[in-house]
Amino acid sequence: MDVWICGCLDLWFPQIGFRTLEWGRRLTPPLSPSMLRLQSISYHPAATVQAILDRVDLELAPQQLTLVIGPSGSGKSTLLEILAGLATQTSGQVLWRDRPLFPESLQQLAGLVFQFPERHFCGSTVLEELRLGHPEIRSEQIHGALAEVGLDHIALNSSPYTLSGGQQRRLALAVQLIRQPSILLLDEPTAGLDWSMRRQLASLLARLKEHWTLLVVTHDPSDLLDVADRCWSLQRGSLTPAAEADFARSPRSSSPSQHP
Ligand code: ADP
Ligand code: MG
Repeated sequence: MDVWICGCLDLWFPQIGFRTLEWGRRLTPPLSPSMLRLQSISYHPAATVQAILDRVDLELAPQQLTLVIGPSGSGKSTLLEILAGLATQTSGQVLWRDRPLFPESLQQLAGLVFQFPERHFCGSTVLEELRLGHPEIRSEQIHGALAEVGLDHIALNSSPYTLSGGQQRRLALAVQLIRQPSILLLDEPTAGLDWSMRRQLASLLARLKEHWTLLVVTHDPSDLLDVADRCWSLQRGSLTPAAEADFARSPRSSSPSQHP
């Protein structure tokens, strides 16, 4: 039987970000909306001969981890900078449920964890690092963000530099989570970590995707394939569905659960 949608409202929820509330129709099968869509995004600064990103189409679905695999110089960080509102595409659109988004909105919507984020720590204590730019933040929010990344046991007055490499990465994630972004963007999150820390980070990402939409870019997908829902390959700015050859760097390579 056809039942009509009578209304639709975009609401912001803590932890999970925007959700569309619809009433008047039971949707079967359940709606699986893509939240953020890149539509033919190119980035071609006048100074470069070739486009750094070339007509990239990408959809990020809620509670999924999308993995973009590409060699150094393929445009991965540039892609994240556009999604984080730190760079502006030269053509194409970033859409949120079919509405164009501008860099200012993307800065609110997305949390970007840079490559080697620990190099950019500014706080002299863990608490200071978490509070930077958010002096109003409440202690429950601080403890919530630390718990989310498994750091609830560390002393807030310890120096971020006394933490292990894996803990520093987790702290950098907590710094972004505290802002409650809808989308988490991670640039080479396992780079420079030892084997066990890489595995721990992959497990953490698997947990985080229960609440957030994740986009991870990497040149070495070996530890991330198991947690990826969709895998793409970026080569010289062109994005295509990943193939077996893109997983080759992994000695334990396996296909992700779902290809685009
Ligand atoms: P990746 O993260 O995959 O290593 P990047 O996105 O950092 O790749 O860079 C892709 C290419 O684009 C590199 O060759 C880089 O030097 C170049 N590049 C990035 N931003 C600019 C820019 N604003 N102007 C000129 N070249 C750029
Ligand atoms: Mg990069």
